[in-house]
Amino acid sequence: MTIREVIEAKIAKARAWGIGAWVLMALSALFLRDSQAASLALLPTAVFFGSGIYALFLIRCPRCYERINQALRWRMLEACPNCGVQFNEKA
Ligand SMILES: [Zn+2]
Repeated sequence: MTIREVIEAKIAKARAWGIGAWVLMALSALFLRDSQAASLALLPTAVFFGSGIYALFLIRCPRCYERINQALRWRMLEACPNCGVQFNEKA
């Protein structure tokens, strides 16, 4: 497994958590009419935003453990901006 595949797997996992949380948020909006019960929707909301923040800012390079912080355009990168390891190398 290459470093690029490791990072893509982390982004895919964050995306899956975000989509799952979004579905729970939508179901909460549809079915929770009581304002107290609506507070249950806070957890999926936190997971939704947390997964986005993780994917954008907290994914680390598997070699140097520095944050890549360029998730929006990291596919254009060929190497880690910190340590310079090529993303096509084995993790
Ligand atoms: Zn690195």
